[in-house]
Amino acid sequence: MQILDGKIAAAAVRESLKTEVSQLKAQGKRAPHLAVILVGNNGASETYVASKQKNSLEIGFLSTLVRLDATVSEEILLSEIESLNNDATVDGILVQLPLPKHISEQKVIETINPNKDVDGFHPVSAGNLVLGIPTFIPATPYGIMLMLEHYNIPTKGKHAVVIGRSNIVGRPMSILLSSNLPYGNCTVTICHSHTPNLKELCLQGDIVVAALGRPGFVKEDMIKDGAVVIDVGITRVPDETKKSGFRIAGDVDFENVAPKTSYITPVPGGVGLMTIAGLLKNTLVAYKKAEGIE
Ligand code: NAP
Repeated sequence: MQILDGKIAAAAVRESLKTEVSQLKAQGKRAPHLAVILVGNNGASETYVASKQKNSLEIGFLSTLVRLDATVSEEILLSEIESLNNDATVDGILVQLPLPKHISEQKVIETINPNKDVDGFHPVSAGNLVLGIPTFIPATPYGIMLMLEHYNIPTKGKHAVVIGRSNIVGRPMSILLSSNLPYGNCTVTICHSHTPNLKELCLQGDIVVAALGRPGFVKEDMIKDGAVVIDVGITRVPDETKKSGFRIAGDVDFENVAPKTSYITPVPGGVGLMTIAGLLKNTLVAYKKAEGIE
């Protein structure tokens, strides 16, 4: 069993981005610029946004944070997005989800200019992904593809089982793994809460991606020997022994599943770190498009 270490793989992606950005700057070009909108002060969202900003700055991007109160109206949020859409110095726009209940996430996503949609959630990006047209790929599945690439995990002809069909993880993951890509070409089974024979399907998986948000759901008797297991789950579980009062739990019962696998991602320290790498890569793509590079 080998750990697919998000720290190592994400650092490699960041390093190559940092080199590219410094070369661009040496040519007198401006820095790529990511703008993040954070509504309210949800603890997990604060952590994610801080990490996205830190990583952006580390590789030489400009990073802007627009903070809005949890009571902000949908109209004001949409007008903030419009002004970032119209700001030629901003390459990528990300609105941290989830949003307060009175705001339509779909409207927000659709207001972002598809050319700046570095989260890859806009219907234009989703449609392009399905059609195999180069586009912004949602950061988490993109990060997983980068992880497979970093560790050179063979995927061609393998059976991948994806648990979860959300628009941000499961569904795009299933599309990528089934696409004709260097780390795609799998035969994919996508499972959800109405899948009756989940255990039998998982047992057929050469690659199993768990993205359902149920801590420890995937048990050792669901995984065949030598499978590759990718754990996307991030759930805060109350834990009095931690200063924060919680621990982060994945969707896989790591301790018991890991010995059966060929490769497995830990939580934390796996997919979560790759998600930011995917976001940064998308932002550089948006920048190059805006600058007419390549
Ligand atoms: P989501 O929107 O709640 O979707 C969960 C999916 O899992 C749904 O398709 C649901 O099926 C399915 N599901 C739920 N219970 C199931 C069960 N018992 N058996 C089979 N399928 C089941 O969640 P998400 O946004 O995709 O996120 C999934 C997990 O990944 C969460 O823990 C989240 O925090 C984490 N996450 C991590 C990252 C990262 O950077 N590492 C990024 C995003 C999300 P139905 O469609 O039938 O309801």
